[in-house]
Order: sequence, then structure tokens, then C-alpha cells
Amino acid sequence: MVQILDGKITATKILEGLKQKTSTLSKKPYLAVILANDDDSSKIYVNSKEKTSNSIGFKSCVYRFDKNITQGELIKLIHELNQNPDINGVLVQLPLYSHLDENQILNLIDPKKDVDGFNPINIGKLNSNDNPYAVCCTPKGIVNLLRAYNIELAGKHAVVVGRSNIVGKPLCSLLTNEDATVTLAHSKTKNLKAITKTADILISATGTTNLITSDMVKKGAVVVDVGIVRMPNGKIKGDVDFEKVKNIASFITPVPGGVGPMTIASLMENTFELYLKQNGI
Ligand code: NAD
Repeated sequence: MVQILDGKITATKILEGLKQKTSTLSKKPYLAVILANDDDSSKIYVNSKEKTSNSIGFKSCVYRFDKNITQGELIKLIHELNQNPDINGVLVQLPLYSHLDENQILNLIDPKKDVDGFNPINIGKLNSNDNPYAVCCTPKGIVNLLRAYNIELAGKHAVVVGRSNIVGKPLCSLLTNEDATVTLAHSKTKNLKAITKTADILISATGTTNLITSDMVKKGAVVVDVGIVRMPNGKIKGDVDFEKVKNIASFITPVPGGVGPMTIASLMENTFELYLKQNGI
């Protein structure tokens, strides 16, 4: 019988723990978010980050910009936030307007305030298993969700489908650090099914609906669906053919209600951990 990896319940527990700890602090963790794009999904994600921060007693502020924002203005803001001792975490919602240089901006965030873990220093520390100041939120959320259900990673074959810098690649590093044997597949991978069939843990992060069908999954595998695709009817779907794959998997994440809530919970955990480090706690 398949077990659902419930990201909503697990994330709620994490957030309640953070809220309780925050209530005892006189100075509160403070998250700054920059939104410099016109994308509807990004606006929803940023609103949800702000709402969650406030619901657990953190302070937050969102800097919203129209398309007239220049690279120079954004650089100036990042420097100000880096130097502001009240701000613990700085997050730049991606993507940025196309005229802005994303990499230059991410590189400028102080690694000690890089709450998303995308600064090259933190990516390098993650790759070297050398205590990054913060670990990218979606990969961290996935590993925390697997841990919450006591799913062993050491020695398991984990197949990650999707090689983005924000999910697939850092997830491979994190799983490797957890002693899993990791294979990374992507759009140019040949015979994907032959590879996914060997996975003890199969994680798909592509944004292609029904990419993972039941014939691609080993009996008893753990299946994690990172994909978020908004359908014309407004519903959200993932990469996995949930209804069929749930008959083969031992554990599976729903979409929505799986990885999404864990990503937000990890962002709050990162903000809290950066706060503690910056305050020498
Ligand atoms: P991306 O959109 O930057 O890239 C997609 C990746 O999938 C690429 O590496 C590509 O090689 C691979 N891919 C595409 N089609 C494929 C195919 N047919 N076979 C094999 N590989 C294929 O990736 P992203 O930004 O990591 O986003 C991936 C999905 O995850 C999107 O749906 C996104 O909305 C979602 N996402 C969800 C969360 C969350 O918290 N749940 C967080 C981040 C991203």
C-alpha cells in the first residue's frame, strides 16, 4: 500500500516549531525579498513567502519593481541589504526581467545572508560538503521530507530528472552528501526509462506533465514530484502520472501538497538559521 509523502503536514510541523522558537526572541528574524519580474507565478510565490514569514512571527519586506529598474539600482539595493544589520536573509525571486544580469545579482548577495543558497560560495560549499551558510530550499525540503518519513538515503540509487541550478544540480550534491548513489538525467538523456527503472528514489523536476509513467518506475520505489504546471483549467499538475504510479511506488508526493510546502518551510528554516549564526547563537 503506497504511503503519501505529505509535504503540507510536514511543513506545518516545521513552521510551528519555528513560530514557537521565534516567540521567545526579542529581536525577530528578518527576510528581505526582491521581486523584479512581471511573472504571475513569481508574484504568487513572493506573496506566499511574505505571508508565511509574518505568520510565524518573522519580519519581512518585499521590494517590488517595474520593468524600469536598472541593474545599477538593483546592485545598490543588494549592497544596502548586505550592510543592514537588521536583515538576516536576502532573496531575489527568479527569473529577473530579461535586461537584468541574474548571475551578477546572485553573486553579490552576501553568502551569510544568501537565504536561497544560490551564491557560488554556498553552491561550492554544498558541493564540497563544507557547511554552506544556507542550502537551496527545494533540495533541502525534499531531503527533509524523506527524513520525516524515515526513508534511508545511504547506499540507495537516487535518480534525479532535471538539471537546473535551483533544483536538479544542488539536489544531486545534497543526496551525494547523504551517501546516496546519484544519477542525473535531463532532456538529452537517452533511454530515460532504462535509467528511472533502476531508481530506489526517483525525483522528477522538469515541468513536463506525465513524463514519469508507471512503466518507468521500479516496484516499491520512492517517487518525488517537484514539477509544477498550471493547467488551462487552473489546476496544478506535476511530472508524474500520480494515479498510475501510486500503484507501483512505496511512497509518493502529491502535487500540490508535496514538495511545494516543503520549499517554503526550508526558506523559513534558512532565515532562522542565518539569524542564529549572525547573532552568534
Ligand atoms: P527548469 O525549468 O530550469 O529546467 C527543466 C529541466 O528539466 C531541464 O534540466 C531539462 O533538461 C529537464 N527536462 C525537460 N524536459 C525533459 C524531458 N522530457 N526528459 C528529461 N528531462 C527533461 O527546471 P526547474 O526550474 O528546476 O523547474 C522544474 C519544475 O519544477 C518546474 O515545473 C518548476 O515549476 C518546478 N519547481 C517546483 C518547486 C517546488 O517548490 N515544488 C521549486 C522549483 C521548481
